[in-house]
Amino acid sequence: MSKKDFFIASLLGGAIGDALGYTVEFMNSDEIKLRFGEEGIIDLVPDRVTGKALISDDTQMTLFTADGLLWAYDRMSSRGIGTYAGSGVYQSYLRWLYTQTRTLPDEHYEWLLDPQPHEVSDSILTYRELFSLRAPGNTCLSALESNRMGTIEKPINNSKGCGGVMRVAPAGLFLHKDPEEAFRVAAEVAAITHGHPSGYLAAGAMAAIIAELINGKSMDISAAKALAILKSYPQHEETLQALIEAIELAKSDENPEDAIAKLGEGWVAEEALAIALYCALKETDFKKALIMSVNHDGDSDSTGSICGNILGACFGLKALPEKWAEKVELKDLIIDMSGRMYDLSEKAFK
Ligand SMILES: [Mg+2]
Repeated sequence: MSKKDFFIASLLGGAIGDALGYTVEFMNSDEIKLRFGEEGIIDLVPDRVTGKALISDDTQMTLFTADGLLWAYDRMSSRGIGTYAGSGVYQSYLRWLYTQTRTLPDEHYEWLLDPQPHEVSDSILTYRELFSLRAPGNTCLSALESNRMGTIEKPINNSKGCGGVMRVAPAGLFLHKDPEEAFRVAAEVAAITHGHPSGYLAAGAMAAIIAELINGKSMDISAAKALAILKSYPQHEETLQALIEAIELAKSDENPEDAIAKLGEGWVAEEALAIALYCALKETDFKKALIMSVNHDGDSDSTGSICGNILGACFGLKALPEKWAEKVELKDLIIDMSGRMYDLSEKAFK
């Protein structure tokens, strides 16, 4: 397998986990078992109209992160100045806001809806599926509607919801050659909408894990590297504690259902990453790990999507169940975006 296959597997794996979890996002464990049986949800449920397994806001926003990184790289190269968060990702998240609300915070942003130089063949905005409302997060919507870009230095709010960490796998992929940079950029990208340290530091840790997995490191080493970088940031304690607990529980013989309950419900960032990391460490079979990551009381599509991003970056395309990969909505766009990030990262960062 080429490195490109790991890029594709990370985003496609995330989309599969998202789709699996989206069906049960707002159900607790008992409700899931009542509807799907004792084992919980174990297969993708196709949409009655399209026959596809629908992705949710997690994958939609992940695609806009990828779009934003490519956009920012293009603008920074031509101007010689800028940041990923401020020169492309924020702009692309305003595009996402437009898909969900048909509004922009200011009319001078209308040009963002036009095709841009980084969009070689077609614009992300030509995919009508991205305009579907799939339980978009209120924190993301209201932060973007405020017409102010949140940063680590000037937090937009005090939210540590999982809306930042669930969408940053592309930063780990695109910037994999420099895990410290991947961490920093992912944290800045999450801070656009999530101002609590755990809200953006969990995102940084997530991207560093993805980066190291793409560099061929094991799951254990990748997690250890992410923790080492995390410790260099102020106010890292809460995220660090959650991830250490996940790693220790994965080594213990605690049964997974109880272990996940101990880690939380995943509505907040550090818990979502902890649950996803626990499942990826505990179970090396892609299908079993993803099933584990969505069958709990909490935010199943986000834990499923983060877990799928991690597993895909670790095991590559050959590990993805073919039937699931075929069924997932926007598969072609996901593959295209992953490929474009791979091609540019190889060209840009020697
Ligand atoms: Mg969602």
